[in-house]
Amino acid sequence: MLEEHLKKVLQSIVGHENYQDSKTSLLSYSYDATPGFQSFPDAVVSPRNKQEVAEIVMLCNQHNIPIVPRGSGTNLSAGTTPLYGGIVLLMKHFNKILEIDEENLTVRTQPGVVTQTLIEAIEDKGFFYPPDPSSMKISQIGGNINENSGGLRGLKYGVTRDYVMGLEVVLPNGEIIKTGGKLAKDVAGYDLTRLFVGSEGTLGIVTEATLKLIPKPETKQTMLVLYQNLDAAARSVSAIIANRIIPATLEFLDQPTLRAVEDFAQIGLPTNVKAVLIIEQDGPKTVVEHDMIKIANICKENEAVEVTLAKSNEEAEALTTARRAALSALARLRPTTILEDATVPRSEIAKMVSAIEEIAERNQVTICTFGHAGDGNLHPTCLTDIRDKEEMARVEKAFEEIFHKAIELGGTITGEHGVGAMKLPYLHLKVGKAGLDLMRNIKLAFDPNNIMNPGKVFAELDKKRVVVQK
Ligand SMILES: Cc1cc2nc3c(=O)[nH]c(=O)nc-3n(C[C@H](O)[C@H](O)[C@H](O)COP(=O)(O)OP(=O)(O)OC[C@H]3O[C@@H](n4cnc5c(N)ncnc54)[C@H](O)[C@@H]3O)c2cc1C
Repeated sequence: MLEEHLKKVLQSIVGHENYQDSKTSLLSYSYDATPGFQSFPDAVVSPRNKQEVAEIVMLCNQHNIPIVPRGSGTNLSAGTTPLYGGIVLLMKHFNKILEIDEENLTVRTQPGVVTQTLIEAIEDKGFFYPPDPSSMKISQIGGNINENSGGLRGLKYGVTRDYVMGLEVVLPNGEIIKTGGKLAKDVAGYDLTRLFVGSEGTLGIVTEATLKLIPKPETKQTMLVLYQNLDAAARSVSAIIANRIIPATLEFLDQPTLRAVEDFAQIGLPTNVKAVLIIEQDGPKTVVEHDMIKIANICKENEAVEVTLAKSNEEAEALTTARRAALSALARLRPTTILEDATVPRSEIAKMVSAIEEIAERNQVTICTFGHAGDGNLHPTCLTDIRDKEEMARVEKAFEEIFHKAIELGGTITGEHGVGAMKLPYLHLKVGKAGLDLMRNIKLAFDPNNIMNPGKVFAELDKKRVVVQK
């Protein structure tokens, strides 16, 4: 609990109704979507505007109180677990889309807007905001920016970073800065916008964002491709790209994931095949038709046993919705679901998929794999039980081996979920000691007292999947 006088000051800033410290509230914000991490904050504070954010930050900086900014808490790297207590800064009041600028093709938004709400508002006006994490019905734009989230459309359209043009940020000393803007070109000094994107709440609090829009594609088509051989599916992915076709979506599901998804979504997906690809192309009608024929042929040449084009928008939507439900579907099977996002160059997908199978078998753990195959971004997902210490040790070992394999293949430990507290023991594998030192120095330049989301990204190097109970 915070000292009484600090509680009173915080209440005077945000109002009593926006300050919570009941046991129920603290419990509710002690964890996020990441299994195995829980730690209680001292208070949950919901500012109503940027001035209140600045006042809170100045107070916390003065008294060394950790601040954990929080959107919807759907991150999968323990990014919002308040490992060192302090306050959870809830962005729920920052929920307005401020301006859709049709001339500059931008949207100015507050960070607490739910991703899907923003996407729908944009599409209503004939524009397109591509970053579509599977969690988009719940996740918020501020969370997407701070994790640099990807999604199903990442292959063709890139990730959140590619759409953030400008930010308003409250710095850890309480100053408010604006970076970038509605500018197609801007090379005035260092690119601070990019630095904040993916910074996981460790450098400042985003209070507004200017995002890039593009015209909505004329049409789209979706295809389901079945394989009796994982390697053939992975080879098809590389072959499609090598044939100079960039589909909007190129998703992979292995058989165990497929079975769980079908059981959950009940849309008639085949469960007797070893793997499927869900492929979507969008753009002008003639281009889409041409690409889909070419893709179908490439898949058949690579041992696809069946290729089916969705016959209607509803059928297409059912396929992508089912794919988005993969994690939720798998989560029903065992008490604990640990999802990782090791990523490799897409040419190495086949090797990575077979390495994951071999590692799972050798460590006797259940790992189902699905993911954004076109991006090389796989989600090996372990179904386990966190109460079983012996099994968890094997799970840890398997994931460690998976990370090493990804790095060996020229990949990374996380493609879109961030480092948070969960993957910080492995960050050095990707960026090396000099990289880590540089990042730590950048952090200290912004936040010398380390009040912003401490214990995340690189603050601690030696702990593994710590469960900090306060
Ligand atoms: C079922 C499921 C499917 C998912 N699918 C995908 C997917 O396809 N692609 C993908 O990339 N991720 C996916 N995720 C992960 C997650 O949804 C994303 O990381 C998402 O961007 C988090 O948004 P959020 O609002 O929940 O943020 P939170 O989890 O609340 O926060 C995420 C990070 O951002 C920081 N933060 C939040 N708001 C601010 C702010 N205003 N200022 C500063 N820092 C802030 C937090 O401190 C934290 O470090 C999935 C998660 C689930 C549970």
